[in-house]
Amino acid sequence: MLERIGVSSSKVRTPSELAGVDGLILPGGESTTISKLARIFDMFEPLQAAISQGLPVFGTCAGLILLADKIIDGTSDQETFGGLDAVVRRNAFGGQTESFETELAFEGIDGGPVEAAFIRAPVIESVGPKAKVLSSLPNGKVVAIRQDNLLGISFHPEISGETRVHEYFVREFVESK
Ligand code: GLN
Repeated sequence: MLERIGVSSSKVRTPSELAGVDGLILPGGESTTISKLARIFDMFEPLQAAISQGLPVFGTCAGLILLADKIIDGTSDQETFGGLDAVVRRNAFGGQTESFETELAFEGIDGGPVEAAFIRAPVIESVGPKAKVLSSLPNGKVVAIRQDNLLGISFHPEISGETRVHEYFVREFVESK
């Protein structure tokens, strides 16, 4: 996605690789596994420190779960990096077969609705005063928020080839810094 919008990128797997980036994307996947691997590879504290020190971070789906201060329906030992003043419910729509694509209005993104794929997706169950809602489903469920250096969304824009959310992150969080 970053290549498509003309932004150079690299994989971040070690604390020294983390120190070299201007922004970070925590991708979709499996939040329980990502947090366990972060512990095993000594990335948990460095990531938490980078988040609290103001590194621009964009979390999609599992990445949103990892940025939430509180989660519902996590495993008993599940940890998050935190940073977003919000409560996020995992697997809020059900399992893989409940995955769907839809179009969303997204505050700050022009040019028509954003194409969004929800895959075993979380929702943002409640939003604290420090975070701002950017997008919700027609039923009112919140699916995108921002707070300071952090952007978190429930869905995968990359599945539908939607580049504007990544462009929004780069423009509003990374370049503006
Ligand atoms: N359900 C996954 C989790 O709990 C997230 C799914 C995704 O990233 N598409 O981490």
